[in-house]
Amino acid sequence: MIRSALLATTAMFLLTACTGSAPDTKEAASAEKPAATFAAVDDNRIKTASAGEEWLSYGGTYDEQRHSTLTQINKENVGELGVAWSYDLATNRGVESTPIVVDGVMYVTSAWSIVYALDAKTGEELWVHEPDVDRSMAIKACCDVVNRGVAVYDGKVFVGVIDGRLQALDAKTGKLEWSVVTVDQDKPYTITGAPRVVDGKVLIGNGGAELGVRGYVSAYDTDTGKKVWRFYTVPNPNKQPDGEASDDAFVKVGNVSWGDTGKWTTEGGGGTVWDSIVYDEVNDRVIFGVGNGSPWNWERRDPSGKDNLFLSSIVAVDADTGEYAWHFQTTPGDTWDYTATQTIILADLPLGENGASRRVAMQAPKNGFFYVIDAGTGEFIHAKNFVPQNWAEGLDESGRPIVTAEARDQSVPHFQTPGPLGAHNWHPMAFSPELNLAYIPAQELPQAYVVDPLAESSPTKWNTGVDFAAGIPTEFTPEIRKMVRSTLKGRLIAWDPIKNEERWAVEHNNAWNGGVLSTAGGLVFQGQLEGEFAAYDAATGEKLWASDVRSGAASGPGTFMIDGEQYVTITTGWGSAYALSAGYAYDQKVESTVGKVVTFKVGGEKELPPVQMVQRDLTPKAASFGTAEQIQSGLVHYSRNCMVCHGPFVQSSGVLPDLRWSEYSGDKELWDEVLHDGALQENGMVSFADVLSDEEMENVRAYVLNQAHSDVNTN
Ligand code: CA
Repeated sequence: MIRSALLATTAMFLLTACTGSAPDTKEAASAEKPAATFAAVDDNRIKTASAGEEWLSYGGTYDEQRHSTLTQINKENVGELGVAWSYDLATNRGVESTPIVVDGVMYVTSAWSIVYALDAKTGEELWVHEPDVDRSMAIKACCDVVNRGVAVYDGKVFVGVIDGRLQALDAKTGKLEWSVVTVDQDKPYTITGAPRVVDGKVLIGNGGAELGVRGYVSAYDTDTGKKVWRFYTVPNPNKQPDGEASDDAFVKVGNVSWGDTGKWTTEGGGGTVWDSIVYDEVNDRVIFGVGNGSPWNWERRDPSGKDNLFLSSIVAVDADTGEYAWHFQTTPGDTWDYTATQTIILADLPLGENGASRRVAMQAPKNGFFYVIDAGTGEFIHAKNFVPQNWAEGLDESGRPIVTAEARDQSVPHFQTPGPLGAHNWHPMAFSPELNLAYIPAQELPQAYVVDPLAESSPTKWNTGVDFAAGIPTEFTPEIRKMVRSTLKGRLIAWDPIKNEERWAVEHNNAWNGGVLSTAGGLVFQGQLEGEFAAYDAATGEKLWASDVRSGAASGPGTFMIDGEQYVTITTGWGSAYALSAGYAYDQKVESTVGKVVTFKVGGEKELPPVQMVQRDLTPKAASFGTAEQIQSGLVHYSRNCMVCHGPFVQSSGVLPDLRWSEYSGDKELWDEVLHDGALQENGMVSFADVLSDEEMENVRAYVLNQAHSDVNTN
């Protein structure tokens, strides 16, 4: 009761504060309808929050710096942090959500786009919204059925649902207010990103470039769900207008950057806007990051050899109309899955003439270079690689990469870094405006790129045109495992975007580590997928505190203050692209651990529940069989169809079943029921009869059982 009264008071105070400010025409227009009395977030509140007592949008504020002005938790007392409360998200799939905190309520999402409203002080559950997703659509999700969070605005909570819907919920009750389908659901689109809200419009993109879609970002009216504008990132295949905001951009710069033939004309071309969308309040523009091409392979996608705008680009459009303003392409002619969807941070840095302040956009995309560009014009200021890379000799004066011949030529495998999981992926980067340092969750995950010789003759749901079986031996020995493992690295890098150089770095045990939170308490917080959540001295990288959260700590942490007490929070879970696809990267068998929200405060004394270890029978369920040719065929088709979810070398990290020990792989009849007939489609394991012949299915089983009897299992 006390909490409810407090919430009401806080909301009323904020409403009064907002009405008290000089109303512009936009506020006057919205005054026609009754204002929200709960979670009354508007543009002004997001602008002035400065990520202080509340956490009002995905990146904290519109600039998305993930920097909090709170100082109560600082270098002196961070060592006393303990768990204040935890909440069980009851999922064994990936969790990537950044909690939003408004009026003492935390809004957080879990796998399958489920939304939770919790009392931010106690963790008490207030409501849960289950969007009822058909689980068989998991096959469309390249990188697990994850969700990175909600937006809260004008009394509503907005969530992008994995199946392509955008929903508005009543912030107080969780009741569905409206729901719109934002994609063609017959195509392999997904939504994993957090919506952003500005000036009565909710912005949402989508994913699916690994499977063949045409990307775009859309703005919907927050009241009605009516579409306001849409910006496509790839031209209409006939290069004719779509009747959308992007038409003008393609006439001006886009169409000439594509040829007239190639897979892009039938498969959409990719360019999905699956993560970063920021609002530049100074220029009243929306700036978003665009993903890779579809298929990945450039020659198959567009044999003309052109740059393919707006793939792998940062694009700015007018916030009201979606009209094109500028673009900067990080990777022209992308052929390596080098998305530019990674965190975009806006800041004012002394990079103008004679050290004058200049408004910039910063990004550390998958391609391994840290870019600083002018936020008003898109002009390149400078960039430098933040990890070792071997695909470009460097950048020219305009920031265009000088690509090496070895990286371009995909007729022979090129062991390249970064690989398709990127030097930086979705894990949110942070920036301290006090120290002028950006904090990058960086990694080294190399991969051999070579064109898939079966791309034309043998279809696959995973449509990249790149041979995932290249360089993978049918015999997976402990020595090979050790060698592969040694190539996987992760580190937290403090990057000076003014001097264009690294300030400090902390080496981690593995890749795919957490997003970063920066605070005015002189701290940066970052988790690791293996479960450690730690605080570092923001100026030096010295580790000051760590806690085992007993699950993967990969998402973006947040902080907030209630009743004079500061909290730090993170969502945890075991899954997302790396845990699905890199089981061999774990020295010990990792069990699937259940996702949680874990919230800390100074002096917190709660114990996290122990990890539920599942005892599994690690014995092959049948003898190995098959000729060398059959096993090699099985390896090829496993790699093309099964690997990204069940892991290379048939090594699962515990999110999805390890096929080596499965009852299904031990029995041909059961195997066919699943692979051919789709008996487990309710779990997302749909029929593969459209892409695999009966013989190929049996060859995959031969390969799986061969791996079950491999040497590597005894070590
Ligand atoms: Ca991709």
